Amino acid sequence: MKALILEVTSAVLGAAREFLVAQGFVELLPVILAPVTDPLRTTPDRAIVSAYGQDWYLTRSMIFHKQAAVRVCPKIFSFSPNVRLEPPERANTRRHLFEFVQLDLEVREAKREEIMALGERLFLYIVQEIRREFGQELAKLGRELPEYPRPFPRVTWQEAYHEFGEDFELALSHRHSTPVWVIDFPIDQREFYDREDLHRPGILVDMDLLYPEGYGEALSGGEREHLPERIRTRIIRQGLDPVAYTSLLKLAEEGLPPSAGFGIGIERLVRFLLGLQDVRETRLFPRVPGVAAAL
Ligand code: AMP
Ligand code: MG
Repeated sequence: MKALILEVTSAVLGAAREFLVAQGFVELLPVILAPVTDPLRTTPDRAIVSAYGQDWYLTRSMIFHKQAAVRVCPKIFSFSPNVRLEPPERANTRRHLFEFVQLDLEVREAKREEIMALGERLFLYIVQEIRREFGQELAKLGRELPEYPRPFPRVTWQEAYHEFGEDFELALSHRHSTPVWVIDFPIDQREFYDREDLHRPGILVDMDLLYPEGYGEALSGGEREHLPERIRTRIIRQGLDPVAYTSLLKLAEEGLPPSAGFGIGIERLVRFLLGLQDVRETRLFPRVPGVAAAL
């Protein structure tokens, strides 16, 4: 089984790369150490390496690097290793590792609509390739990957919240037999870099994709704040210190283009494709929050 999991992971990476390169994307090598990284207010502990007289964060996402990179190339992606010191209570959620890999992509001048369509087509291409290459193995496991119709259904955050409360992720995911989008998160539910819709103050132009069958979140993304005064306002609104984001603000003052993108976790995708119980099964050397590792 472990060999199959590794083969499927490898095929997922290959299919994603093939799809994106054919769409004109350029692959960026990942950034692992950075003076500034994703604030992730729900996971406050940060992993830091001190070197050369400064602190370097282990990257929690490549969000700011993606925003800077689209100044150079209009469509970029990276298989980005992320370290997030998830609390030990998340060891048994079946969805959390403290080291994982995101396929993180960004497109200059893109709107949310375009990125959602790209996400659907990327996901369906990967499913099709995995079905084609591993049909027999999937059948032996009793895992069915149907041909999900596009576009995937959408619900707003408000609708999801009214029906299931704040922790709607798993309930909504269980209820659906196709992937489902959640759009329009309220401003205080997300990080400062998701763009606020100025025609609908307090609502963000962003989205999550949830897998069907209770597997939970697949990806998060959205349009980005790119103007310096908007970024500063959002940083302050979230109770963060703008001084900690000086380099990002300086970049924005020099000129960041508008952009949109998303990040999709590879381990969660492999878990879904193979119908595995726990995301830790996808890695040969899983990093489970609070659990020691031998190698
Ligand atoms: P986020 O920007 O926080 O939504 O992260 C992007 C994607 O990375 C998520 O949609 C998940 O697929 C994946 N991801 C986030 N945190 C974890 C984690 N602790 N373990 C495994 N995958 C994760
Ligand atoms: Mg998310």
